[in-house]
Amino acid sequence: MTNKYMYFIANWKMYGDLKSLNTLDKVIKFSKSYKKNKFKLIYCPPYTLLDAFSSKFKKTKLDVGAQNCHEYESYGAFTGSVNSKMIKNIGANFVIIGHSENRAQGETNLLINKKIKDALKNKLKVIFCIGETLFEKRKRKTHKILSTQIIQGLKNITNLSNVIIAYEPIWSIGTGIIPKTDTLSDEIKYIKSLTKTKLKQKSTKVLYGGSVNSRNIKDLKEISTLDGFLIGGASQDSKKFIDIVKKTFI
Ligand code: PEP
Repeated sequence: MTNKYMYFIANWKMYGDLKSLNTLDKVIKFSKSYKKNKFKLIYCPPYTLLDAFSSKFKKTKLDVGAQNCHEYESYGAFTGSVNSKMIKNIGANFVIIGHSENRAQGETNLLINKKIKDALKNKLKVIFCIGETLFEKRKRKTHKILSTQIIQGLKNITNLSNVIIAYEPIWSIGTGIIPKTDTLSDEIKYIKSLTKTKLKQKSTKVLYGGSVNSRNIKDLKEISTLDGFLIGGASQDSKKFIDIVKKTFI
């Protein structure tokens, strides 16, 4: 049982249409009625639904974020792209940056760093994703990978109060496999201590992401250093998403 303020971030990836908005009614109702614990629910739908989600969440406790952004700070000739300024303008307050599915498309730490800086300039809160591949884990390179991603991704950003780190081992995303509790606890400790020693932050929020569901949450919630969860697949089903929140606090 935790009394901590917890974040639950729904990453809808490339799923959802206008009909999916109806499924949110259950979650809005739940967030109004559930007063036992303090938590923040943030939905990150595709760009096409940001406007609709943000209108739907007016006067609720739910918030909206985008799943990525372009690094260029102004309007420009970048076909198919959306920058932080446009995301903020549509009513979103968060943005996921550095997700492994985007890193796999060629997003580098340098590019991620530019995106984070511009997002912060535009008053968006950043959910900064980091994580190692299975190959890197087997080679015992997890700490090296995480430290490079953190140091390069957050280079020259002195205030991390609007940055939430999401540790998402790539081998865990969408696979149903989660790290052992002890291992995960060590990685979270490592990330937190690195932001203290190398980035001089008093405290940094760190979430876990990767195959979180309403069954494994009972083990994950035991990691007291965690500040919440980034949830992909399970977040598209309102009942499962609510279940995860409820079970975190039991
Ligand atoms: C994600 O892609 O951010 C994620 C956590 O996905 P899933 O929960 O489906 O593993």
